Amino acid sequence: MKITNEKDQFVKQELPVWPDGKRIAVMLAFDLDAETMWTTRGDGNLDHITNLSRGTYGPKQGVPRILKMLDTWNVKATFFIPGIIAEQYPEVVREISRRGHEIGFHGYEHEEFTTTTKEEEHQTMQKAEQIIRDICGQQLAGHRAPGGVIHDYSLELFVEHGYIYSSNWRDTDGPFIHRLNGKEVPLVELPKDSIFDDTAYDFYTDSAPERYELKSPREMLEIWKEEFDSLAAEGRMINFVLHPQFVGRVSRVNMLSDLIGYMLARGAWIETNYNVADYVLKQKGLRSE
Ligand SMILES: [Zn+2]
Repeated sequence: MKITNEKDQFVKQELPVWPDGKRIAVMLAFDLDAETMWTTRGDGNLDHITNLSRGTYGPKQGVPRILKMLDTWNVKATFFIPGIIAEQYPEVVREISRRGHEIGFHGYEHEEFTTTTKEEEHQTMQKAEQIIRDICGQQLAGHRAPGGVIHDYSLELFVEHGYIYSSNWRDTDGPFIHRLNGKEVPLVELPKDSIFDDTAYDFYTDSAPERYELKSPREMLEIWKEEFDSLAAEGRMINFVLHPQFVGRVSRVNMLSDLIGYMLARGAWIETNYNVADYVLKQKGLRSE
């Protein structure tokens, strides 16, 4: 088993200087898995229409509430949307895009790409890109793998598709520039981690594999405030993994709103994954103005 692909495990981490004296970059990223959250769990949930309808809560109830809240702060977010969900909810995708938010790649059927070849994955990316382009005109430029599965060929594939960021790795607090064949490429990693994934706190299911523990919005807020304060002191970044079907409940959207206010008051640069990646690349001279 190959444990690491890093030859030098003490790689010097150069941190970007964030714009306008901001202390930290924060990306509010929503994974709009909707029903695919349940169809890909492989635990028989497909037979339970009520479980599927929990997924529907995301585009139907969660997203409108979230969009309204984001507007009150005038901040832009990234929505990672599987192609099949975009096809089912084109109006939701158009509205997300119309309000200035970014859409990122998140599979077609939220497939986990466990055994896929490079060619198969290329086809899936092409398909999802076409769907989003047809619905709202956006060109996908960033990759968050459903299930977080990445292969040896993934970086090459992202570059070939003209993507400028990936949100998959978890080995540093980020951001960092990816290397291919020993050379830096214009692809920024904007890492995520379970600590910033709402499902660590608000995901409940009594179908196998069961998950019973829920944290209150107040507890989530406390954890995220502490993470924010400590990462801001290091001049880092945070990339959230938020699922509208869970975090879109009114108490949790109110909590998110409180968190945004807290972060903005303490020097957060809240931007889309795309704009943060674009900024980092330009700062490193890997992308022209
Ligand atoms: Zn997902």
